[in-house]
Amino acid sequence: MSTIGVLGMQGAIREHVHMLEALGADTLVVRSVDDLTRIDGLVLPGGESTAMRRLLDRYELLEPLRENTELPMFGTCAGLILLATEVEGYDAHLRKIPMTVKRNAFGRQVDSFEVDLTVKGIDDAVEAVFIRAPQVASVEASVDVLAEVEEAIVAVRYDKYMACSFHPELTADLSMHRYFLEMVEATKRQLA
Ligand code: GLN
Repeated sequence: MSTIGVLGMQGAIREHVHMLEALGADTLVVRSVDDLTRIDGLVLPGGESTAMRRLLDRYELLEPLRENTELPMFGTCAGLILLATEVEGYDAHLRKIPMTVKRNAFGRQVDSFEVDLTVKGIDDAVEAVFIRAPQVASVEASVDVLAEVEEAIVAVRYDKYMACSFHPELTADLSMHRYFLEMVEATKRQLA
């Protein structure tokens, strides 16, 4: 079984750990460069991307994560923002998925909402909770769009990276985490 790291800077860390463990993965809360050598995949939780960026700088994790080309990553909400190559109005962070994201894109009136979402590659509808969520404004052609809400892109996959603008870790629905674990296992098989 794989060991999955959950970036331990800020946000919904424990919730991701619980879901990954429910699926049988070993987990590690990642706070240092050394931790990166002990994991097969990394989850970037939701929270506040600007706060996470400050902590990534302080823990000296920004550059190692930017330079890492081996580790599969899954970003949820603020984690999706961290993975984008472009963030409207802000400096981009880890620059893994060639897409432009817009923070807080569903507007102030719709701070949070929940929908049953069709996600490419997952059979049953996914329970999706959006909280001050970003949208993907545009993607390069090589990015696989996995889900949309009213024509706004809210989940993508590219190479060994996946991201969604909602919070699967705040529901009981394990399907997005299962999808990521399968990606991690497939990447391991390719490297073996
Ligand atoms: N609005 C937050 C940001 O811009 C993301 C919200 C979330 O992760 N729930 O970072």
